Amino acid sequence: MSILPNRFGAFGGRYVSETLVHALDDVEKTYLLAIKDPLFKKELNHLLKDFVGRPTPLYYAKNLSKIFKCKLYLKREDLAHTGAHKINNTVAQGLLAKRMGKKRIIAETGAGQHGVATAAAAAFLGLECAIYMGTEDMRRQKPNVLRMRILGADVIPVSSGSKTLKDAINEAMRDWTKNVRTTHYLFGSVLGPHPFPLIVRNFQRIIGKEAKKQIIKCEGRMPDIIAACVGGGSNAIGIFYDFLNIKGIKFIGVEAGGYGIKLGEHASRFLQNKKGIFQGTYSYLLQDKCGQIQTTHSIAPGLDYPAIGPEHSLLYENKKVKYTRATDNEAVKAFRLLSSSEGIIPALESAHALTILFKFKSEIKNKVVIINISGRGDKDIEALDEQNR
Ligand SMILES: *Cc1c(COP(=O)(O)O)cnc(C)c1O
Repeated sequence: MSILPNRFGAFGGRYVSETLVHALDDVEKTYLLAIKDPLFKKELNHLLKDFVGRPTPLYYAKNLSKIFKCKLYLKREDLAHTGAHKINNTVAQGLLAKRMGKKRIIAETGAGQHGVATAAAAAFLGLECAIYMGTEDMRRQKPNVLRMRILGADVIPVSSGSKTLKDAINEAMRDWTKNVRTTHYLFGSVLGPHPFPLIVRNFQRIIGKEAKKQIIKCEGRMPDIIAACVGGGSNAIGIFYDFLNIKGIKFIGVEAGGYGIKLGEHASRFLQNKKGIFQGTYSYLLQDKCGQIQTTHSIAPGLDYPAIGPEHSLLYENKKVKYTRATDNEAVKAFRLLSSSEGIIPALESAHALTILFKFKSEIKNKVVIINISGRGDKDIEALDEQNR
């Protein structure tokens, strides 16, 4: 039985085989004890500061502010160690795994960012590490495959199905069910069975906590608009959460619009508007008439995911957050714009969030806007080059 609330409205829950229930209870108990333990807090804070490099800056983007006649601030998660926000969560969950006496960490990865961040945490904690990755993603994100291997992780290729994230998840779940006694499944986003959506969100809240202090220092007030891209939803909920109870802020989550609106051409879960169960949680997800999970497409592998975190489904239904989508082409346009105007190469995922600059042009005028740059784009350069040829 879970101790913490295990749902966000109707969403979330714990739809797993009984084999895993004990392990999930253990994660929850360990988490609750850890966050009250000053030693855990001290160790985590130390790691966030000196290993991850926090706080990440809130950067005033002068040139884009001029072009779009607003005050644009970028939260620079691209400057976090290993190149994205994922490390905030993997360091913290790695410490939990250690506390639970687990010897091995497994994870799945799409873009490879979560795999790299998990491998880095496992390396310094002295834990074994196996990362499941679709062979199509391995091809698209080769530099990250090499980084994981250098960090000592075993990258396990998954060539079933669409050879992308959803198939890697299935394999990782299988591994966990088999090796649950020795192994911690390190979820990379606000997904999966309770307590993962809740603990990953709480570990990512640091983004918004810092941004709040930083924007007050820069502007002396709260922002008007906060935007982030939404794959599973961890960087978005991470920056939104500590602002959510403040009146007058508009929150925008940007999903992957891919290249079309037919099933299989995008990863916009709110476009199809269907709910179901995937990876142990109840949420909006892309499925066919029989409830089978559909393949998705995005130029940004980190957004190429059939389900959205359950808390986002609640924020969508109670209209707290506006969810929109950006196509591959729009994301590439934003990617080039930030690179050439500000000297910052964003991840293609983060470029989706940047598209609000031209898609909400009149709404952002004269406003204070924060966009979360969830990661850096070094990993995407080859894919873009391929697209050009
Ligand atoms: C993984 C990833 C995402 C998507 O994951 P969320 O859980 O939605 O944040 C976005 N941006 C980058 C750079 C990523 O690596």
